Amino acid sequence: MSGEERKLQKDTRVLVTGAGGFIGGHLVAEFRKQGKRVRAADVKPLDKWYQRFDDVENLHLDLNIKQNCEIAAKGVDEIYNLAANMGGMGFIEHNKALCMLSVLINTHMLQAALNHGCQKYFYASSACVYNADKQKTFAAPSLKEEDAYPAMPEDGYGWEKLFSERMCRHFREDFGLYTRVARFHNVYGPWGTWFGGREKAPAAICRKVIEAKLQGAHEIEIWGSGDQTRSFMFADDCVKGIELIANSQILEPINLGSTEAVSINQLVDVVEGIAGIKLKRSYNLSAPKGVNGRNSENTLIKKYLNWEPDTTLQAGLEKTYAWIYDQYLARERGDAGVVRESSAAG
Ligand code: NAD
Repeated sequence: MSGEERKLQKDTRVLVTGAGGFIGGHLVAEFRKQGKRVRAADVKPLDKWYQRFDDVENLHLDLNIKQNCEIAAKGVDEIYNLAANMGGMGFIEHNKALCMLSVLINTHMLQAALNHGCQKYFYASSACVYNADKQKTFAAPSLKEEDAYPAMPEDGYGWEKLFSERMCRHFREDFGLYTRVARFHNVYGPWGTWFGGREKAPAAICRKVIEAKLQGAHEIEIWGSGDQTRSFMFADDCVKGIELIANSQILEPINLGSTEAVSINQLVDVVEGIAGIKLKRSYNLSAPKGVNGRNSENTLIKKYLNWEPDTTLQAGLEKTYAWIYDQYLARERGDAGVVRESSAAG
């Protein structure tokens, strides 16, 4: 990077919304490392943020409220909107209205971006926008960007994402706002939710295996038949992809995901291998399990960026398992400061 580019980076003021959450926390960490001036905003009280850096501007704001979006957007050059009320299948299947209410965040943030002359607006969409009919088989259908239409997304959460994607498009076309949208496919890694009901499959399985190992149990519960297929993207790849897409000429929503598709049973195999145990699996067929098969089709991202997420599931899960293991033990010790609310100052 040239001296001029470094200076530009330092002068760039960025807003990350949902900064108290999993991916938002990683994005703040990365921008801060690059020397950007970061404003971080989240509805959670500061002591509940997964990663919090005391040398960035941290704002405790409910971004459903328009005035708060104006406060957050004032004086920033770029907005990365990751705030959403979401969780794994257990959460989104039972909280459709809450998920849809996140439409207020993106609506008000887009308006605020326009009002304050922001130069860049990134929106975190999801593979849950894809048409359910294209995900009926276990054989991990790879979803191309065009497969979002005709629209039949995940009820609640997916509809909100699809609508918000479209709003980004029309703010770009009608008002000239620079918007970029990525469809994340199952992100996992350290600093993610790993208990409490909003956790996703990789974290939930790591926790169950750790629990069984530490308590000497021989069986774990799996949601569904274990045949459902997914691909999982490590958090570092997600952060890199967000930056690349935000700075690209890619105008339409694009997949940001790994193509390493596995069944949930294979995911459990990997975690068991890391833990060094083998457990009996009890399949809960009435638990939320989502679509049967979903994978990312990466032709477009490779064409535009000459890059795609490439951390192997094994490598990413080793780091994630080790982190959850430490958090689990910290929680057992009653060390709440380490469990989820770590402050990463300095
Ligand atoms: P997360 O739940 O850890 O983070 C989201 C954050 O948004 C939370 O900290 C939450 O408190 C905050 N938030 C919710 N409502 C808010 C409000 N009204 N005002 C301000 N902040 C609010 O989730 P994550 O995994 O980090 O996801 C980040 C983004 O990526 C979300 O938009 C999500 O839909 C999207 N996404 C994530 C995944 C994944 O696998 N993690 C997959 C697809 C899309």
